[in-house]
Amino acid sequence: MDHDGKCGICLQSLAAGGLTACPECRTSYHAECWIFNRRKCAVYGCWKSPFPRRRLGPPQQHADIFNPWFLGVLVTSVVGLLVWSFYNWFNP
Ligand SMILES: [Zn+2]
Ligand SMILES: [Zn+2]
Repeated sequence: MDHDGKCGICLQSLAAGGLTACPECRTSYHAECWIFNRRKCAVYGCWKSPFPRRRLGPPQQHADIFNPWFLGVLVTSVVGLLVWSFYNWFNP
């Protein structure tokens, strides 16, 4: 459990009282708070929350075609290929 010992709905300690947990993210709540909150989880992004669920995982990375390393390798390859082609064209 990764809660910090406090109910996410009433922000009081979870030490006492009947507890229940979100079936989705296993966050603990007081049973009364869970019912009071219409059995909606207070965790951002959890099910039944008004927010869309976020996809977990590494942040999206766009293809970095303007990376200087990539451009350098690309230009070197193209120029090298051209030079090699012309060399073979004029020196069969
Ligand atoms: Zn509570
Ligand atoms: Zn939840």
